[in-house]
Amino acid sequence: MVEISIEKFAKSVVKNNPGEDLKTVTESLKEALDAKKAGAKCPICGNPIWAAGSGITGSYMCFTCTTGEADDSEDYEIVE
Ligand SMILES: [Zn+2]
Repeated sequence: MVEISIEKFAKSVVKNNPGEDLKTVTESLKEALDAKKAGAKCPICGNPIWAAGSGITGSYMCFTCTTGEADDSEDYEIVE
C-alpha cells in the first residue's frame, strides 16, 4: 500500500466528492485508523481492516473485501 497522511487523503476525498465535509471525512478516517490500531479485523476474512477505505465507506473491512481486488500495491492507506 502507498502510505498517505490523513490530512492529504481527506483533502483528495473531498476534492473528488464535492459535498463531502473535510472535517467529517477527517474524523471518520481518524476513527477508522484508531480502530485498525486497536486491532480491528475484517468481519469477512479476519485480515486487518483497510483504514482509508473503512473511513470512507463506514464499513470496517479489509482492502480485498472492500474493493474486490487482491492487488493493493497502488492504493492508499492512511497513516498519522
Ligand atoms: Zn476481508
